[in-house]
Amino acid sequence: MSSTAPLASPPTRPIPGAAPGTGRRLLDAIRATLPGLRLLTDETDRESYRKDETPYLATGLPLGVVLPETTAEVSAVMRLAHEHRVAVVPRGAGTGLSGGAAGIEGALTIAFTRMNRILEIDRENMVVVTQPGIINADLKRHVAQHGLFYPPDPASYEMCSIGGNLGTNAGGLCCVKYGQTRDWVLGLEVVLADGTVIRTGGRNIKDVAGFALTHLFVGSQGTLGLWTEATLRLRPTPPPRATLLAFFPTLEASGKAVAGMTAAGIQPVTLELLDQFTIRAVDDMHGLGLDRDAAAMLLIESDLPAAAADAELDEAVRVCESVGATLVVRAADATEGDWLRQARRLAYQALERIGTVKMEDIGVPRSRVPEMLVRIEEVVKRYGVRCGTFGHAGDGNLHPNLVFERDDPRADEITEGVKDELYRAAIELGGTVTAEHGIGSSRREYLELQRGADAVGVMRSIKAALDPLGILNPGKMFLLEGERSV
Ligand SMILES: Cc1cc2nc3c(=O)[nH]c(=O)nc-3n(C[C@H](O)[C@H](O)[C@H](O)COP(=O)(O)OP(=O)(O)OC[C@H]3O[C@@H](n4cnc5c(N)ncnc54)[C@H](O)[C@@H]3O)c2cc1C
Repeated sequence: MSSTAPLASPPTRPIPGAAPGTGRRLLDAIRATLPGLRLLTDETDRESYRKDETPYLATGLPLGVVLPETTAEVSAVMRLAHEHRVAVVPRGAGTGLSGGAAGIEGALTIAFTRMNRILEIDRENMVVVTQPGIINADLKRHVAQHGLFYPPDPASYEMCSIGGNLGTNAGGLCCVKYGQTRDWVLGLEVVLADGTVIRTGGRNIKDVAGFALTHLFVGSQGTLGLWTEATLRLRPTPPPRATLLAFFPTLEASGKAVAGMTAAGIQPVTLELLDQFTIRAVDDMHGLGLDRDAAAMLLIESDLPAAAADAELDEAVRVCESVGATLVVRAADATEGDWLRQARRLAYQALERIGTVKMEDIGVPRSRVPEMLVRIEEVVKRYGVRCGTFGHAGDGNLHPNLVFERDDPRADEITEGVKDELYRAAIELGGTVTAEHGIGSSRREYLELQRGADAVGVMRSIKAALDPLGILNPGKMFLLEGERSV
């Protein structure tokens, strides 16, 4: 992804009680206390932990990067960081799209890459216990060998880690049927800001003892604690998918088809939308022979057993045709379906071949998808910017991607204007400024607009209770008192 000038940045705020030179002393203390721990201090190494997949956001150079292998090491590092009053940025695979894992100047990055072991598959209870650094697709492949299925399925699943997925409560291509990451987490081992290790949840399907801490940590973007182990639910492997493509003469018609399928009570496992700009970019990249004149396309899949899948897709065809679909095509077999799904997964990369891409992540109730699509069209037309919209339309989650000429000097200004209008439109329609990528540092200014000051006040109180010094990923989610953007 190519970069342009920075848009927003993580904050700087002296951690209360921090003395000059405290960062250097922390590194010395880590070396002395944990001589076996991999610690990167070379500037070139640190540079590679500066950004996530939002290179247009301003970031900071980490003081150092540690790559722990055990919970005990994470706990010891946090004890030292707490003692020396140094901020910490947890990091998975760095594929995030809101600046959550981006470096903060003078902060220590803890990268979980080496904590990538599956610790147990418990078939009787249908759970897997894993370290956080494992790549999502590797975990899926591993459990599949046991006839089991871990549904959460971000398009980045070959690159992103389970720890990062917990950090953002990642979504993906099958949320419409199986929900988001949070729905598959039963328990966590969490290292708190002062190094204390706690366990939340376990292997119980039902468990209402105390506050639902597991659910609170998931989606907290490294601001409340660091997970070093996760217990995740599994399902039996579903049948191979049956796949359908439907093409529409207008974006609004595709949105009506999405709303119509929800109203008809069918529950496809995938219900993805691509607009014309994206259809053409994907077709240019893969030569799939898609209908390049269509205004929009839906990728619809069923993972029910064969006859039931046919019936589900028949109903989907009926709905699509009732709102004016011009062409409906079924994949010949599961392999062709895999190809089509993979092409959808690579839609972002297809757009990146055209120019610099700035991806947004709005969500609306499913019945409002047609209106949101119209609003996106209106806004980008008014700003005169190219936009490829795709997304998980089945759960109301749309990704308008602004595509600029590389190094277009107007890119930042236009992005800010479009983003502001789209966020306000989403909120007006009862939606959200982020459905799966997270607030991070890129949407901080809009959290209060959506949730209201009182609700954000509750979030701040929770943060203060768990991290009184404010050393965990400061400036991500919201600014603390005394923090400022640089
Ligand atoms: C091409 C592409 C497609 C994508 N498609 C999707 C998609 O379909 N759905 C979707 O939801 N996202 C998608 N994403 C975004 C991204 O992949 C997800 O947000 C993913 O969950 C990030 O995982 P990661 O391992 O890269 O985490 P990172 O980016 O490294 O971190 C994400 C957040 O988690 C925190 N974190 C990481 N590990 C820990 C830990 N052990 N303890 C505490 N906090 C931690 C970090 O501090 C950060 O705030 C896509 C990204 C790209 C580039």
